[in-house]
Amino acid sequence: MTATATRVLVLNSGSSSVKYQLLDMNPDSGGGPAAGTRLAVGLVERIGEETSRLAHTPLATGGDKRETEGPIADHGAALKAVAAELSADGLGLDSPQLAAIGHRVVHGGLKFTAPTVIDDAVLAEIERLVPVAPLHNPANITGIRTAQALRPDLPQVAVFDTAFHTTMPEYAARYAIDVATADAHRIRRYGFHGTSHAYVSRKTAELLGKDPSEVNVIVLHLGNGASASAVAGGRCVDTSMGLTPLEGLVMGTRSGDIDPAVTFHLKRVAGMSEDDVDVLLNKKSGLVGLCGDNDMREIRRRIDEGDERAELAFDIYIHRLKKYIGAYTAVLGRVDAVAFTAGVGENAAPVRAAALAGLEEMGLAVDADLNAVRSGEPRLISPECARVAAAVVPTDEELEIAQQTYALVSA
Ligand code: AMP
Repeated sequence: MTATATRVLVLNSGSSSVKYQLLDMNPDSGGGPAAGTRLAVGLVERIGEETSRLAHTPLATGGDKRETEGPIADHGAALKAVAAELSADGLGLDSPQLAAIGHRVVHGGLKFTAPTVIDDAVLAEIERLVPVAPLHNPANITGIRTAQALRPDLPQVAVFDTAFHTTMPEYAARYAIDVATADAHRIRRYGFHGTSHAYVSRKTAELLGKDPSEVNVIVLHLGNGASASAVAGGRCVDTSMGLTPLEGLVMGTRSGDIDPAVTFHLKRVAGMSEDDVDVLLNKKSGLVGLCGDNDMREIRRRIDEGDERAELAFDIYIHRLKKYIGAYTAVLGRVDAVAFTAGVGENAAPVRAAALAGLEEMGLAVDADLNAVRSGEPRLISPECARVAAAVVPTDEELEIAQQTYALVSA
């Protein structure tokens, strides 16, 4: 890496999409962009279809968003198209200013507790974890291989969704099942959304004017996928997702917690296959299963029109959230803040108000005026007298991945 190499390309590769951001991590910003400045952001969708779409915004030049539609056959073609867009703005991937490519990798098992420079052995381990992350790790691997082919000389860094949760004590991470079976198949709670939980818990401490080591935070990452975590002094001590991202809160399309016997029952009584049950619980459950919509805006709109199904779905979603807030209050003993983040957490004031309603005995309260404020900044929504702070803290997984990647390659 040269002294001027301060840029990091962050890639988040899904099965048919690639999200990307090019950031400048310029550490001493003397005259240059401030650390974490976004130079370009974009998204390639529907890879492998006739109607693939690339949307690219060149923030560095202040240019408008450019959108192109047309077939993009695979991830290799997608990344080449992204590289061409970046080149057009003088931000090409061949630039000596590019320090590294940071990849979001969903499952890092127990082995990866920190961001890791990817070599053949690391890639083989990520591949070994495919059975526990069949929806995510294969796409992440494709993204890594594609980027390696494009810039074989450049450090490629994996930042794992699971890493932040590897500090969970054994009693929180283990399921109460036969130990030999669990160990043979690496069955335990890993947790996900770790980069978000790490970023948001740190930012919440900052909002309170404290060092992360001094505060206990419950982070509620409420997006289409949703998870809660209990963070004590900057370390995760419990989280709601488990072996896979299916466990825990009610999500957009996933059931979250469910009696595992439901799965045998569906197989024995309803004649469903393993794959049918997998699709049911991951894609056709949660809010969409309960009321046909997974977008909280639409659900709120329907409730305002008196739709009872939407209202029940909302109530089930909130009830589960409350149970986790209660459980993590008990796990932490002392809670300094509850932080809401991600699409629903950052934008849906009624969700925040309902999740904390009636929890005054636990020191939690919401100030209606503060809760109604719309802003992209971290902010408090609790009244000053509340014993526990309630906050909205926008997440920034890409910045966190870029920071972790740059810290590793510039060390
Ligand atoms: P994410 O996965 O973090 O991108 O969050 C996506 C979800 O955020 C969507 O499914 C919506 O339900 C929710 N969302 C986004 N904007 C709003 C809003 N203004 N009000 C309520 N929910 C929102």
